[in-house]
Amino acid sequence: MIQEYYIPTTVADALRIKADQPHYSFIAGGTEINARGYPKTAQHISGLISIARLGLTGIKKEEKNLIIYPAVTLQELIDSPLLNEEPFNMLKTAASNVKNRHIRNMATIGGNIAACKSCSDMIPILMAMDATLEVYSSEDVKHEESVLEHIRKKEKYLITKITIPFRKDFHIAICRYTRTSNDLALINVCLGIELEGGICKDARLALGGVAATPLRIMEIEKFLIGEEFNGKLHQYAQKLREHLEKQIHPIDDIRGKAWFKKELAGGLVIQALYEVAQKGGIIL
Ligand SMILES: Cc1cc2nc3c(=O)[nH]c(=O)nc-3n(C[C@H](O)[C@H](O)[C@H](O)COP(=O)(O)OP(=O)(O)OC[C@H]3O[C@@H](n4cnc5c(N)ncnc54)[C@H](O)[C@@H]3O)c2cc1C
Repeated sequence: MIQEYYIPTTVADALRIKADQPHYSFIAGGTEINARGYPKTAQHISGLISIARLGLTGIKKEEKNLIIYPAVTLQELIDSPLLNEEPFNMLKTAASNVKNRHIRNMATIGGNIAACKSCSDMIPILMAMDATLEVYSSEDVKHEESVLEHIRKKEKYLITKITIPFRKDFHIAICRYTRTSNDLALINVCLGIELEGGICKDARLALGGVAATPLRIMEIEKFLIGEEFNGKLHQYAQKLREHLEKQIHPIDDIRGKAWFKKELAGGLVIQALYEVAQKGGIIL
């Protein structure tokens, strides 16, 4: 049960409280931590440390990077004029997939990463965009790590900055399936492809809903790199689907059978491939 609630005003103070009270948890928008199911995994939490007044808000563009601070809400991403152009506009698409606006007004991007839900809408796109995180494990220990490295770690530290490099000719598609428009995705796919003259120069494929955390499917990325898409997309898409089905191992659960999730994932990856191909001017 929560017995204490701190509202520190500096990152150093927040980290000192956390060091003194390891069982306290950071809280941002509270949409996850206050949700009904959450205490199951967090029964040991007896205090909360708010990040609301740590100054971790705002979005800015630097010469080569986009910087997003973790207390930025998902609605602020959608409303930001800094994210109007490709590929950063896809962050808006990802955020708008989180239903509904009441949740988006409170839910933060840092909270979404740290909550690390299997079908998170923000983690796949951040992985596809090679986002890196600045995290503090203690007052004087700061790390830079990829989103993938961060979600694989058992210990989750304070996220203080998200950096996304700008990539030219990098096209992104997000495809997802939900049972109702207001629901979390059952499966979501984010495919990013760098195209040059119809050839795939680089690829990122991230999938949510097929494992306990979102995954990057590097085998498929390797499979895509170097391929010439012009005029060959139809035959290529089928091969991609067969290859993907060998790479993922979803489980049967209340949200769907494993075979159904595999079928969906295959179909959504093909849909995403056609979308990025269209954005990149590929001739079908
Ligand atoms: C009704 C409902 C619908 C939802 N729909 C979706 C959906 O469609 N898609 C989706 O992806 N998610 C969805 N969510 C999940 C949730 O809203 C998001 O994961 C949200 O972004 C969490 O952000 P928050 O700021 O509210 O996190 P909080 O609840 O404040 O915190 C969540 C976790 O993150 C940690 N944390 C927060 N900020 C930081 C930080 N800066 N550094 C380190 N740790 C931190 C907290 O300690 C806690 O463990 C939904 C939730 C609800 C209740």
